[in-house]
Amino acid sequence: MLNIRIEATTAPKQKPDADNPLTFGTIFTDHMFIMDYVQGEGWIDPRIVPYGPLQMDPSAMVFHYGQELFEGLKAYRSEDGRILLFRPECNARRSNATCERICIPTIPEEDYVQAIEALVKLDGDWIPTKPGTSLYIRPFIIATDPFLGVRPSATYKFMVILSPVGAYYPEGLNPVKIWIEEEYVRSVRGGLGEAKAGANYVASLKAQMKAHDAGYSQVLWLDGVERRYIEEVGAMNIFFQIGGKVVTPGLNGSILPGITRRSCVELCKLWGYEVEERRIAADELFAAAVSGELTEVWGTGTAAVVSPVGHLRKGDEVVQIADGGIGGLTQRLYDTLTGIQLGKIEGPAGWVREVV
Ligand SMILES: *Cc1c(COP(=O)(O)O)cnc(C)c1O
Repeated sequence: MLNIRIEATTAPKQKPDADNPLTFGTIFTDHMFIMDYVQGEGWIDPRIVPYGPLQMDPSAMVFHYGQELFEGLKAYRSEDGRILLFRPECNARRSNATCERICIPTIPEEDYVQAIEALVKLDGDWIPTKPGTSLYIRPFIIATDPFLGVRPSATYKFMVILSPVGAYYPEGLNPVKIWIEEEYVRSVRGGLGEAKAGANYVASLKAQMKAHDAGYSQVLWLDGVERRYIEEVGAMNIFFQIGGKVVTPGLNGSILPGITRRSCVELCKLWGYEVEERRIAADELFAAAVSGELTEVWGTGTAAVVSPVGHLRKGDEVVQIADGGIGGLTQRLYDTLTGIQLGKIEGPAGWVREVV
């Protein structure tokens, strides 16, 4: 149990106008959570302070070798006014798994969730209430030793910041166009792919720019070795419905284990679908699209929850998925997950945690 010191702001900011759409990740709340790590002392001085710039040494290790990780989850305001988090202990556990991979000391799961809850509670008035809106929570850890040598840092900061965000699709669910990338790769087995480290995103920028320039909203990565098998999309995992079965790439070490992914797998199994977590070659996918067996494609991630895919491109091959619209299972997953997150539908035990 953390003993969190709270220094409340004396100059609360103006909250965004509820009638204007919120652009993702541009507005931040009044406070932030910080906790320091010092070798020999552990994680110390948990505190909530007014949101603002950090003063850091230019030689801080995070600036040079990228020893950094992050997480992403959301707080929702239910119709009856409660503040709800979706499976936050899964984020705490995944953060610790990333810590292990990039040599950062772990944080007890209860402390991690407590930090998030304390901050969300204090800035609870910032949770927007319009349909589809939420408060995005961004926990992250940075290496702070002032040192240019290459080794794990001996000091870190764990921080949490909050940002009110709008509906991912202001006009409702909308199918996206996906570009299958053949030149660049995101990660390889044994690399950082299954860690939620900023480094993975640096590796992805070039292909993302290329896809954007071609009129595509997201990149679908292939495996880094053979460049044959489907891995995941930008910041989403990917699912297919093939011949009635639900198929998603297995967690092979180079794919990020999404919490929305896991929740979709669990829901589909509950609903009686056969779910296969396995290797899927891009060729298999295109063949299934041609034969008509590929009936739905969707991405999963905290930001969009469930995102229908209407169109895939690989080199000169382009396929439209079914009629290019939103599949029935995709819609059902979206409605069910968002219903659970907002406290309107009772989900499996323990999926929703109320901040009190
Ligand atoms: C965060 C992330 C996801 C989605 O994970 P969720 O826990 O569902 O939000 C998928 N892929 C990558 C690369 C990610 O960083």
